Amino acid sequence: MQILHPFSGSIQQYDQEIVDPGRHRPDHCPQCEAKHPLTAHGFYRRTLVEVKFDGSIRVRRYLCPGCKRTVSLLPEFVLPYLRFSVSVIALFLIARLLEGRTLAAAAVAASQPHMPYQRGQFWIRRFQKQASALCAALAAKIAPMPAASFVLRALQMLQSVGWIVAHRFLFSELRQHLLGWPRFLAPHGRPAGLGPLLRPT
Ligand SMILES: [Zn+2]
Repeated sequence: MQILHPFSGSIQQYDQEIVDPGRHRPDHCPQCEAKHPLTAHGFYRRTLVEVKFDGSIRVRRYLCPGCKRTVSLLPEFVLPYLRFSVSVIALFLIARLLEGRTLAAAAVAASQPHMPYQRGQFWIRRFQKQASALCAALAAKIAPMPAASFVLRALQMLQSVGWIVAHRFLFSELRQHLLGWPRFLAPHGRPAGLGPLLRPT
């Protein structure tokens, strides 16, 4: 299971901060509700493209001594199952869908001038599918604004709440993915077939 931790510094600061396993250690298991702190369980690496970073980062992992399942502590600027950060995708979607720029200009705005245009189209399709659900969920944070479409309303709500704050709320409180869960993890970010294990949120 992946959980997020609030982290607003640079990627270099993040990498130093997670060296200390006690720093953000969960004090209970989010999967079995055992009331004892989790045990540090090493790291894994994942790729990440940020506005000024393209490489891999370490992600700290913990193990629950009760249920023997692992919990990964993802920095909140990262989107689960996507290589590109919240900020990069936000900059692209704002430029393309809110400001009406071309795919190429939106890619430049997202600091990805050489990315294939299909990637941007893929983000747009996922966002469009997710827009009405985002509006409904974010209504808990901000009054819905009048807009010509769910896409525009969702973008405006995300801009007002802040993309990373919204992502943390959606993911941590609702197990909702900013761009929708990939199909193999439907419906709530867990492998299909594990439905009965889902906790109501
Ligand atoms: Zn557990």
